[in-house]
Amino acid sequence: MSKPRYKRVLLKLSGEVLMGNQPFGIDPEFVAELAKEVKAARDTGLEICLVIGGGNIFRGMAGAARGMDRAQADYMGMLATVMNALAMQNALEQLGVHTRVQSAVQMDQVCEPVIRRRAERHLEKGRVVIFAAGVGAPYFTTDSGAALRAAEMQCDALLKGTSVDGIYDSDPKHNPAAKRWDVIDYDTVLAENLKVMDASAVALCRDNDIPIVVFSIREKGNLARVLAGEGIQTIVQKGA
Ligand code: UDP
Repeated sequence: MSKPRYKRVLLKLSGEVLMGNQPFGIDPEFVAELAKEVKAARDTGLEICLVIGGGNIFRGMAGAARGMDRAQADYMGMLATVMNALAMQNALEQLGVHTRVQSAVQMDQVCEPVIRRRAERHLEKGRVVIFAAGVGAPYFTTDSGAALRAAEMQCDALLKGTSVDGIYDSDPKHNPAAKRWDVIDYDTVLAENLKVMDASAVALCRDNDIPIVVFSIREKGNLARVLAGEGIQTIVQKGA
């Protein structure tokens, strides 16, 4: 792996990528593959914060759409992100990568609470810090959690690993003529309502000048390529 262009990044993975090819839940084999990619990046000396969504298990909006109280459903969603964080911690530690999970919803028996200074120390020691439970409040998503932690931990970039290889002007799965941006401005993403992250997350990154790198995590070796500035990706940044 060539030398990465960042010193510290926040990697946000949507819960869906942990399902592998299953329709739901966690595929341990796929999580192990993801962990290998994270390890390879960490082994270059990069400091890595991780945020994992919960959409493979439970999304608050889906519960609310079926008659649940939204806040209650969102708390269930937050717990789903903790499960995913523990699955990733397990996979990373099986590869010998030291990790700590810090949850925004306190769960003393299971993981640490979010403490920025402690997280700093973990990163200095080469540990991967997995931030769970988003921002710890309903009506938010893990995208906002990722943007918040990226700002708080002074990350050089927020890498958003999804099933799509960047930001398109229409859905590439349905429109073969869809155009992908290499670089795009935060305000264009917001004005055109491009579905990459929720608006609050994009705005937080814009206000703190944190580039958002959108890429496909489903292709093997892609994280390394993206970190080296190669491979297919869309970068959201100022003045693009
Ligand atoms: N969630 C929340 N507050 C947060 C983060 C997450 O209420 O700060 C809940 C929300 O219900 C969300 C669910 O957790 O739908 C799972 O997170 P998300 O939808 O962001 O997961 P992803 O789409 O990335 O898999």
